[in-house]
Amino acid sequence: MSRSAHPAGPRHADVLPEGHPSAPPADLNHLDRKVWASTVTRTPDGVVSVGGIEVTRLAEEFGTPAYLIDEVDFRERARAWRTAFGEDADVFYAGKAFLSRAVVRWLHEEGLNLDVCSGGELTTALSAGMPADRIAFHGNNKSVDEIETAIRAGVGRIVLDSFQEIVRVAHIAQSLGKRQRVQIRITVGVEAHTHEFIATAHEDQKFGVPLAGGQAAEAVRRALQLDGLELIGIHSHIGSQIFDMSGFEVAAHRVVGLLKDIRDEHGVELPEIDLGGGLGIAYTSADDPREPHEIAKALHEIVSRECEAAKLRTPRISVEPGRAIVGPTAFTLYEVGTIKPLENLRTYVSVDGGMSDNIRTALYDAEYSVALVSRTSEAAPMLVRVVGKHCESGDIVVKDAFLPADLAPGDLIAVPATGAYCRSMASNYNHALRPPVVAVREGEARVIVRRETEEDLLRLDVG
Ligand SMILES: *Cc1c(COP(=O)(O)O)cnc(C)c1O
Repeated sequence: MSRSAHPAGPRHADVLPEGHPSAPPADLNHLDRKVWASTVTRTPDGVVSVGGIEVTRLAEEFGTPAYLIDEVDFRERARAWRTAFGEDADVFYAGKAFLSRAVVRWLHEEGLNLDVCSGGELTTALSAGMPADRIAFHGNNKSVDEIETAIRAGVGRIVLDSFQEIVRVAHIAQSLGKRQRVQIRITVGVEAHTHEFIATAHEDQKFGVPLAGGQAAEAVRRALQLDGLELIGIHSHIGSQIFDMSGFEVAAHRVVGLLKDIRDEHGVELPEIDLGGGLGIAYTSADDPREPHEIAKALHEIVSRECEAAKLRTPRISVEPGRAIVGPTAFTLYEVGTIKPLENLRTYVSVDGGMSDNIRTALYDAEYSVALVSRTSEAAPMLVRVVGKHCESGDIVVKDAFLPADLAPGDLIAVPATGAYCRSMASNYNHALRPPVVAVREGEARVIVRRETEEDLLRLDVG
């Protein structure tokens, strides 16, 4: 798609280059509740605050860029998922979206379980007191050390991802004198992303054992034979940033079909199914995510209906939301450094972070929104692209958005919905120092992950 010059110039929002946002919002000072954490608001003097603290004060105290996480909002979302799914289901927060010890404690207190997919995530979870039996261990190539650590710790389940892993985990469990609870991750031939899903030919991926060709059935056969394993269920994860439940419907249908085959062949009804995560959030005002209670109701209905048709007892359901819990709870606060209007194109606004603190735009072409948060403005909207300070032209944070035309260096701008896959995917590219995560709650702010320092960089570089 071409983003070439438009004769009328995009700074006048009547004629815009291709691929632009359709029109500027009616009021640039307005904060759309859909994309901002629940305690974010504009104070009477125009400064945005979160958890009762103005961003200008937060920037002074903690510097920029910084991730500000709204603890109240995080707990509310975690609780909403827990409540929606009820006592006969389990919610596993996907730690890869964002994990820190404070977050582990919040999850524990709110009654959620936790998914980890590396030794590092497991250590973080255990060191913050998450009971091991509430941890699920994922990954397509867990090392022998990781498996051993997980089994010794007593994790509630290991999700097996390949034929080799079935044998490997069984062997390690047995040599430790244990019987490990496991699920087998299968690929059901469905891949869902945002508003559509594709129901064929999506077994071409590294995760899971394909249902096709009887491979999943064979994996189950082998797992059931091994003394070191207690097979408790089947796992399926179909994609990310999903809004449409029909992909889950097809996946559940196919997983229940496998449960039925297992019952018919082995006379066992596996007690659990895990339908994975991937539920979408609003990154911009154009997105309309589902509420947890709607998702829970839909999934419960789908599974019960399928099981009834197959004459199976309804298994215990688990889900693994990551983004849907943490994504909307945080925003990234940046200071504007330079502003470069390009005639007939757009205005480039450079901030003091970039692809090192948010790789999603460069990696997935993700859409974000942005707002001026250190003051209000009555100036006309100008079309901007918010970029970082890295030596890379793909270093884009927000592709297309509107900010007031009187934007100036030193202004603070914020990108909402950066709680998931931003700090957790942050890098040291250009030896950038990864920003802190500051948790804000009821007028108090506390660093939960500190800012990296140049000493941190030099400590790893042993000369
Ligand atoms: C990534 C992942 C999740 C979480 O995905 P979200 O999009 O953050 O909800 C859950 N389960 C598995 C197996 C995953 O790989």
